[in-house]
Amino acid sequence: MLPESSLAAFIQSLPKTETHLHIEGALPFELLQRARPGFSRPPDSWAPDFKFRDFAHFEQELIGMAISWYTSPERYHEAAKIVFARHVAQNVKYVETSFASGVIELLGLDGYEILAAIRAAVPVGLEVRVFLGIHHTGAGPKMRPVLEDALGWPELAGIDLHGPEDQPLESWTAEYWAAAHRAGKYTKAHAGEFMGADFVRRVLNELQPHRLEHGVRAAENVALVDELAHSRVALDICPISNHKLMPGITLANHPIRQLFDAGVKVTVSTDDPISFGNALTDEYEALAYHCGFTRKELVQLARNGFEVALMPAAQKNPWLDQLDAVIAAP
Ligand SMILES: [Zn+2]
Repeated sequence: MLPESSLAAFIQSLPKTETHLHIEGALPFELLQRARPGFSRPPDSWAPDFKFRDFAHFEQELIGMAISWYTSPERYHEAAKIVFARHVAQNVKYVETSFASGVIELLGLDGYEILAAIRAAVPVGLEVRVFLGIHHTGAGPKMRPVLEDALGWPELAGIDLHGPEDQPLESWTAEYWAAAHRAGKYTKAHAGEFMGADFVRRVLNELQPHRLEHGVRAAENVALVDELAHSRVALDICPISNHKLMPGITLANHPIRQLFDAGVKVTVSTDDPISFGNALTDEYEALAYHCGFTRKELVQLARNGFEVALMPAAQKNPWLDQLDAVIAAP
């Protein structure tokens, strides 16, 4: 068996994508410390086998950290610059990140200015697409006009359904996702992290998203797995996040193995690194060590990321060709 450092070097060498990343959840620890000097060491949840009690526990801790920093578009810009520089350092070529519409609703920030601030932080050599994340209950009277307006922001790649999955899926959701499709936006939805296959199927039917965030519990239903394998819908999975947050799920029994083997298109991302203490390369290493992913399978995961990336073929093909060359090597 090759030494550990050799696997790390192999993963580092692969061109990669990150397609499931909440910018608030990616808050760099040094900025949290600057905002709250009492934070002398990383959160307990960075420990490898930490388990959150439930989603509320996770969300409460994350919001507590995030609102310490994200109080202005300028601070989004400053954080995004650090986040993207870390992507570049890991040989990541393409990133999709979302910002939470809650900061517009609750903090009174200007959504378009946040979008512009994140976009302005993108370094040379990295492609970034920005999404607006909206909770199940995120279309109150104050937010309706903002959400309508957002579909006209040219720099906004799309929308993503966020937040606790067990909150009711309100009727505005399907209407808004349809309006987003008409406006040419790409749509995603978080489903199948806490709620089961029935909810995943409901989201697929009612919202018709291009992609699912997590989607892990789809694995509980053989027919749904088969449908996903034959559909255009990919799953942006974050194994370390799921290991620390999903009841009964660990890296060792993670359904990404089953979904991948069944032919479902899955990608790998980090979700909320300030809560989980993870880098993208950690996710690939975890899959190799705990889920038996071979090097060729890791390359296929990286390849899936570029396949779903919102870039023209001419732009993504060099990265796909590079990955294919790794697979073809003896
Ligand atoms: Zn997420």
